[in-house]
Amino acid sequence: MNSISENIKRYLSKLPKHVQLVAVSKTKPTSEILEAYNAGQRIFGENKVQELTEKHEELPKDIEWHMIGHLQRNKVKYIAPFVSLIHAVDSLKLLKEINKQAAKNNRKITCLLQVKIAKEDSKFGLSEEDLSNILTPEEIQKLPYVNIIGLMGMATFTNNEEQVADEFASLKKIFDQQTSKFPNLKILSMGMSNDYNIAITQGSTMVRIGSAIFGNRNYKN
Ligand SMILES: *Cc1c(COP(=O)(O)O)cnc(C)c1O
Repeated sequence: MNSISENIKRYLSKLPKHVQLVAVSKTKPTSEILEAYNAGQRIFGENKVQELTEKHEELPKDIEWHMIGHLQRNKVKYIAPFVSLIHAVDSLKLLKEINKQAAKNNRKITCLLQVKIAKEDSKFGLSEEDLSNILTPEEIQKLPYVNIIGLMGMATFTNNEEQVADEFASLKKIFDQQTSKFPNLKILSMGMSNDYNIAITQGSTMVRIGSAIFGNRNYKN
């Protein structure tokens, strides 16, 4: 396997210019994040609030920390002071809590709304209908400390590339419909280690890549 730093350099040079790389560092030690950082990577994604907070404290302050996992409302307060993008907002209640904690910290928090596109194994995410109920000028106006800048989705975990492509295409279609009404929506976060190529073909502007950079995760800790 290549080193972390080689992997970062390879992705940073091969991804199209309009596609941002989120290096997903969950479960990985700060030493490995630093190796990626020293290779030029600045955006890192984590899916657990406590781990995210601890790593933010230890690591260089110019890292942009993305919360990519399911976020519980009672934990928003811990990341509100520093998080730079929350990917998986899946309810209006959560959005309201983010707005409240952002106000307390006197900053705007940038968010993506997670849409459920996977036919299988998907617990989280908004239906298209939920999405259009949240993305309204009236609701957005009530949330001045939240900045919704795009959508996020996860495809079914399957080897069926056609199905994955269809699921990403469905999100791209929803994204295009919404961007015509809300020009602030600029980011379409889709694609992971195994499906980022398909996601980019289908219009992704942000890929979240973990194991292909850092190696397989060991969950025994
Ligand atoms: C873990 C995770 C990723 C990265 O997965 P890999 O297959 O390791 O690239 C991307 N997005 C989310 C939401 C994740 O939880």
